Amino acid sequence: MNIQWYPGHMTKAKRMMQENIKLVDVIIELIDARVPISSRNPDMDKIANNKPRIVVFNKIDLADRNKTEEFIKWYEDRGISVVLVNSKNGKGINQVINKAYELCKEKIERNKKRGLINKPIRAMVAGIPNVGKSTFINKLVGKASAKTGNRPGVTKGKQWIKLKKDMELLDTPGILWPKFEDQQVGINLALIGSIKDEILNIEELALILIEYLRNNYLERLLTRYKLSDTDNLESIQILENIAKNRNLIKAGNELDLNKAAIILMDEFRNGILGKITLETVGL
Ligand code: GDP
Repeated sequence: MNIQWYPGHMTKAKRMMQENIKLVDVIIELIDARVPISSRNPDMDKIANNKPRIVVFNKIDLADRNKTEEFIKWYEDRGISVVLVNSKNGKGINQVINKAYELCKEKIERNKKRGLINKPIRAMVAGIPNVGKSTFINKLVGKASAKTGNRPGVTKGKQWIKLKKDMELLDTPGILWPKFEDQQVGINLALIGSIKDEILNIEELALILIEYLRNNYLERLLTRYKLSDTDNLESIQILENIAKNRNLIKAGNELDLNKAAIILMDEFRNGILGKITLETVGL
């Protein structure tokens, strides 16, 4: 799933995006609602080349609603449509279809005037690895095929999936790359588990997460791990207390900090610590 981004891969991804974008009327750009900044491609405005675009905040089931609202406003102030989606259960998917029609209204009207009634509008999904593109496409196609019967068609070597009688989706999503130059982007993507835990080891990640949680979601941290207080404690001491409270002891009667880190990261990534967003508008 994880792509090692060598310059060659990036050039190829870029070229594919540029080719495919020419074929579509609307781009569905998926981002991860927990890290709306880090999960975006920094050049998306340029890549989109003025094509209509819907920004899908995916994995909305895991993100903090208040912070999401701020990001929605940020996008809407810039004239970009936002839809909140949970691709696992399909919530929000229909809104994406409706939004796509809305953004293509002029084109549909133009086609009608030219006698091209029901000429399909065409869409493509794009996003960085692990943002949920396959899950999203499956739900989108699943919903559509329940009603219309899904027939992939071959046109100019591209596979199009019929979503509605007048809407088609490019069957393979565009793969975007994150802003590697920015170290915080790498850290944020590692925290949500989108890139392998190689950049930082799991204990380092856990310490970064603890620091963020104590500053932004202190109550959750205290409650979940039955901590009485974090005042005057270093993050490492908090991790030790988590290990203590969970009775995570390894041979030699030492606290198993690695296990504590794994548990903390898993619980965060699976939403057990609640809905958490790691970024804030404007920071
Ligand atoms: P892709 O690499 O962009 O195609 O991403 P995938 O579709 O393979 O999804 C990556 C992971 O995210 C998988 O484990 C999915 O189950 C999970 N996922 C995708 N969408 C959602 C969502 O809306 N909510 C949650 N909680 N998980 C999701």
